[in-house]
Amino acid sequence: MTTISHNWAEHVAFGASAVHFPTSVAELQQIVRSATKLRVVGARHSFNAIADTSGALISLHNLPRSIEIDAASKTVRIDAGVTYAELSPVLDAAGWALFNLPSIPDFTVVGAVSTATHGSGDGNRNLASSVAALELVTASGDLLTIRRGDADFDGAVIALGALGVVTALTLDLVPRFDIYQNVYHHLPFDTVVDNFDALMGSAYSVSLFTHWQGDIVDQAWLKHRAPNPPAPFFGGRAAPGESSPVWNKEPYGTTAQLGVPGTWYDRLPHARIGAIPAVGYEFQSEYFVSRANAPAAMRALKAVQDKLHPALVVSEVRSVAADTGWLSTNAGADSIGFHFSLERDWTSVKAALLVIETALAPFAPRPHWGKLFVMPAREVMSRYPRLGDFHALATRLDPTGKFRNAFVDEFVFGA
Ligand SMILES: Cc1cc2nc3c(=O)[nH]c(=O)nc-3n(C[C@H](O)[C@H](O)[C@H](O)COP(=O)(O)OP(=O)(O)OC[C@H]3O[C@@H](n4cnc5c(N)ncnc54)[C@H](O)[C@@H]3O)c2cc1C
Repeated sequence: MTTISHNWAEHVAFGASAVHFPTSVAELQQIVRSATKLRVVGARHSFNAIADTSGALISLHNLPRSIEIDAASKTVRIDAGVTYAELSPVLDAAGWALFNLPSIPDFTVVGAVSTATHGSGDGNRNLASSVAALELVTASGDLLTIRRGDADFDGAVIALGALGVVTALTLDLVPRFDIYQNVYHHLPFDTVVDNFDALMGSAYSVSLFTHWQGDIVDQAWLKHRAPNPPAPFFGGRAAPGESSPVWNKEPYGTTAQLGVPGTWYDRLPHARIGAIPAVGYEFQSEYFVSRANAPAAMRALKAVQDKLHPALVVSEVRSVAADTGWLSTNAGADSIGFHFSLERDWTSVKAALLVIETALAPFAPRPHWGKLFVMPAREVMSRYPRLGDFHALATRLDPTGKFRNAFVDEFVFGA
């Protein structure tokens, strides 16, 4: 790779004056030492300007890839350019797995954990929770390792690129496992909301897909660890064939359904490895509310469902268990993420986001760090009780704000 100019969705043109592609950690350290403003970019899949900078961008794409499994400690050490698509088959072949994956496997693992990327499952925390240690080039150019249990650890994993350049991660592993995916159609909305906890807890990972029209939830996608013979499911009927997350669309590139067993990395995401194009075709937004508020939040969104169109393509509802990350969108309480895939039209998207944020306001939503939102910075910042600790950590590791950009200045520092 020799240049980078846009994010994946191609609506954020990076303002960086230069893009560096170091081929060794030593070269990376030298670039960091001599720069005044820098930002690292991963696979560019974030939908806002979180990865942009007025200084220079660094991509770790040309660094050597390494994946070192340590069976004794049940961990894997990876370099920071590795994507879930590259990592998962290697782990699987060696008898190991990650506990969960996002909807597509194309992100770098570091880029994903930096923004608290998640899958679904009542017992599954976001993907940052699998990080056991990270290696970081800080603003001085020095290498620092931060391990689980260290005082700074909860502030260092989900750090939005604001602490330095992560060069390697150590991730927890679990023994490899199979998943059986079943899809159900047309669940009555009231049945879903009245039985929300039972429904979301009915499989290892549950996603609801809906386009918020009428009195139904379009689909429930269940990912089980054991066979799950089709039967009526909360008023929904078993899908007669393979489904797409978007109602009435052909299931292009989706992971296999109909209860056919498959390995974890070919069922936990909704899209198969290699199925998603290299250039984006949609916008995305997502908000997290505490699990206890989710049924009321479902009703609040239903009350405004007609106003979500024409911007809305499809919405996904997922469950994420609580964690302790200072900037985690799932910190402190089990949460439900309300995701919205949106047409590429900023005027109608902005109007829809205002409607969504107003509807969810009573539930103090936290926006996904890597997706689109219109909420003022003071509201975003008010959702993070440990923000002051993060400020102190960032200022200690990066006293001149080398790794801060306009997004971090606005939404993390309130500047
Ligand atoms: C089609 C699609 C589907 C998606 N599905 C999901 C989903 O299922 N669940 C979900 O939660 N999100 C989802 N997202 C959002 C996505 O997970 C996040 O935007 C994620 O951060 C993208 O990872 P990336 O490698 O592209 O990172 P980038 O977007 O390139 O960067 C994200 C952040 O990580 C920082 N960063 C990257 N590399 C490093 C490094 N080496 N050191 C320090 N900081 C670094 C960047 O500075 C930036 O702040 C989806 C996005 C798309 C486009």
